[in-house]
Amino acid sequence: MVDYIGTEDMQRIVAGAGPAHFMQALAAEIESDYRRWGEFDKSARHAIHSPTGVIELMPTSDGQMYSFKYVNGHPQNAARGLLTVTAFGVLADVATGYPLLLSELTLTTPLRTAAMSALAARWMARPDSRVMALIGNGAQSEFQAIAFHHMLGIRELRLFDVDARATNKLTRNLQALGLDDLPFTRCRSVVEAVEGADIVTTVTADKRNATVLTPEMIAPGMHLNAVGGDCPGKTELHADILRRADARVVVEYEPQSRVEGEIQQLPADFAVTEFAQVLSGAAPGRASAAEVTIFDSVGFALEDYSALRYLYKLQGQQNQPRKIDLIPHLDNPKDLFGLLGASGARCHSAQTIHALAAELTPP
Ligand code: NAD
Repeated sequence: MVDYIGTEDMQRIVAGAGPAHFMQALAAEIESDYRRWGEFDKSARHAIHSPTGVIELMPTSDGQMYSFKYVNGHPQNAARGLLTVTAFGVLADVATGYPLLLSELTLTTPLRTAAMSALAARWMARPDSRVMALIGNGAQSEFQAIAFHHMLGIRELRLFDVDARATNKLTRNLQALGLDDLPFTRCRSVVEAVEGADIVTTVTADKRNATVLTPEMIAPGMHLNAVGGDCPGKTELHADILRRADARVVVEYEPQSRVEGEIQQLPADFAVTEFAQVLSGAAPGRASAAEVTIFDSVGFALEDYSALRYLYKLQGQQNQPRKIDLIPHLDNPKDLFGLLGASGARCHSAQTIHALAAELTPP
């Protein structure tokens, strides 16, 4: 039997801790795994593109455990009443290859993404950052708002989305949270939202090289948390922002970010820093208060590994963790055929097989 975490289980887990505390705990797990960067088997994710989106597989392993995530990104889904991003994942034991946990990751992905964003900002943003512009108010946005409020001390939000209904939804959800120390302003444009912000989070979905932020919007000392540009041909920042002499660009895993991140717009020798180097002290996250720091986030498999490992640990603390019979248990592992039982194993004539197939075919 394999541990199973479905959407309802995940809702219960997050409600129990509260999303802010859950993301803070998850950020600590992600940080501890990034500190073991050298132990991980790393590769850029495998992506299959279509005109409407992308479906990706994201594997990694530290030699003890293996994980993968299945995730899609379909910006036009919202117009069809569907999520832009859905996901699920598996954690497995490397010694036996047996899966240990099958988990939903649709709800987990924005939690881990916001936890990672806030973790990176802790090392990169000015410590006195209090005002954040949040551009793109869709499914990921509340998670970003809560993580930056709780983990970074953000005390004012400036919101903008090209779709007013998305901002309506975000303001409703923020009001319901009742965070008195997190006032927010609805802005009429990106320019208005970004003006005076210490941190700018872009979390838009648009399958093109968009220029959500342009150079004249950027002030010295800002931290940009660029989350929405995460596919070839899908970016959010004007390339001249990255080229600024005072800009420092940090990525998760350079080979993947060269293909998917904002830096896909720049030559392959453009200098970037990997986040693990910042954690190890090999490079600073920010060298001065005036620098413009850019976290060019695309989402790396290690973050999902951390999330799955953390969820597996939480699952182990449950009284009666949910299980599914994904893998058979056999007294004699060489007798897999025996699992079919005496009647199931009987060889059928071609005629019977056609009759069985007809029975199983929906009308
Ligand atoms: P979503 O479709 O729910 O929301 C995106 C919002 O962006 C929409 O409300 C849309 O109206 C808005 N938008 C589009 N273009 C805009 C523009 N130019 N200015 C302002 N708003 C604009 O999508 P989501 O689930 O919130 O995901 C947002 C993005 O984050 C996606 O591109 C997704 O691929 C990406 N993502 C990245 C990571 C990561 O780790 N970096 C993880 C998850 C999702």
